[in-house]
Amino acid sequence: MAVSDHVDLSTFMEGVKKRNTGQTEFIQAVQEVAQDVFEFIDDKEEYHEAQILRRIAEPDRVVSFRVCWEDDNHNIRVQRGWRVQNNNAIGPYKGGIRFHPTVTESVLKFLAFEQTFKNSLTGLPMGGAKGGSNFNPSGKSDSEVMRFCQSFMTELYRHIGPDTDVPAGDIGVGGREIGYMFGQYKRITNRWEGVLTGKALEYGGSQMRPEATGYGAVYFLQNMLKHADEDVEGKSAVISGSGNVATHAAEKLVELGGKVLTLSDSGGFIHDPDGIDQEKIDWIKTLKNERRGRISEYVDEFSNASFHEGERPWSVEADLALPCATQNELNEDEAKALVKNGVIAVSEGANMPTTLEGVKVFQEAMIMYGPGKAANAGGVAVSGLEMSQNSERISWNQEKLGDMLTNLMEDIHGKCVEYGEVDGGKAVNYVKGANIAGFKKVADAMLAFGVV
Ligand code: NDP
Repeated sequence: MAVSDHVDLSTFMEGVKKRNTGQTEFIQAVQEVAQDVFEFIDDKEEYHEAQILRRIAEPDRVVSFRVCWEDDNHNIRVQRGWRVQNNNAIGPYKGGIRFHPTVTESVLKFLAFEQTFKNSLTGLPMGGAKGGSNFNPSGKSDSEVMRFCQSFMTELYRHIGPDTDVPAGDIGVGGREIGYMFGQYKRITNRWEGVLTGKALEYGGSQMRPEATGYGAVYFLQNMLKHADEDVEGKSAVISGSGNVATHAAEKLVELGGKVLTLSDSGGFIHDPDGIDQEKIDWIKTLKNERRGRISEYVDEFSNASFHEGERPWSVEADLALPCATQNELNEDEAKALVKNGVIAVSEGANMPTTLEGVKVFQEAMIMYGPGKAANAGGVAVSGLEMSQNSERISWNQEKLGDMLTNLMEDIHGKCVEYGEVDGGKAVNYVKGANIAGFKKVADAMLAFGVV
């Protein structure tokens, strides 16, 4: 095909929309990557000829299955489970499992697509996948969660393996759920192997894995700020979410001398003008991980704080913003409010938390904007290190892993700068940098395989 015969971006996206009708999150994720990749491959005939982006935007497989379980009142409940294996060109499929009522095939396809680029950016040998169910763990007893996890794994086990596909946690899937699923895998297969990451230390987990995504998002932020001769110290921050990523991001920001003003959950956000310090973060961790309570309870404990029901924290004035809850939780108007209030940098702990329109606002305002696929890659990077430790039957200490995470995030930042410099090197488009660097490695591996 001659270069002039290439389909253009809008024709490509029309095809994606037609083939994935109604899958808005997936289409949004492909659109965001495609605009940068099209520009990059414009003069690179081999990628066009091999239809690389078209192939990455079509998952290798989507497995959908019934998950049947019994609640405490002996009612039979039926949920739907999925595993989306997007691409394994550079390593075994790898990506988290999400349990949340908002999970659909579109959400998991977008996450698996994003994961392919993110895993590539880490430099570690991992392909992209994602899985989950529309099961809602909130309000369920431990035994109900256990029965659900066992039933989920009873189907999932046949699609995964330490050299095939290695799932991890995500929204609604923490240490408890990973334990139940790992136990069931081991029971069915009679094999102890590193088939899941995010395991507890007693049975093959890695130091630093729980902290890695949140800490990593702050390290990425630190690198962006450093690149612009700025620093976290003394800066205020708005953070959304109050789960694994949000609480660890808050913890690292506080440690580096930042002041955290907000956290949230799906019920609303809390604003604490005194700052959410380590003691308060520990209280939230207990609230969320042990008592499984709501963030609104914070104001009963810390009286200077206010709770804003049904709202998101982006109207609160701050220097830094870290969306760490879920996809599309920061829209165009909210991005404008952040910019108007003087935000200088945004680092995404969550996956695709900012809408395409919101991203445009940040880019036009020329603020530092680290997209999730780069900024939150620390989690999967340490998962990759957990896989290495399991394969070698060794465990590295906290200090070593902490150093490795710091270096990995610096490295990812460096790759974004390499491919994302704009305006003659005066600014960095981190979205472009992450998309191109992530794409190139996967694309080159696929070229080596021929048409498969
Ligand atoms: P958790 O389940 O630990 O926490 C999720 C948080 O987000 C909770 O506070 C939850 O509130 C809130 N939330 C979830 N859905 C919504 C919604 N629709 N609207 C408002 N708030 C919501 O998950 P994680 O912290 O692990 O994950 C958070 C984000 O980070 C996700 O986008 C995930 O994909 C991403 N991520 C996670 C990684 C990890 O290592 N855990 C790795 C890379 C990315 P509530 O309890 O009310 O539902």
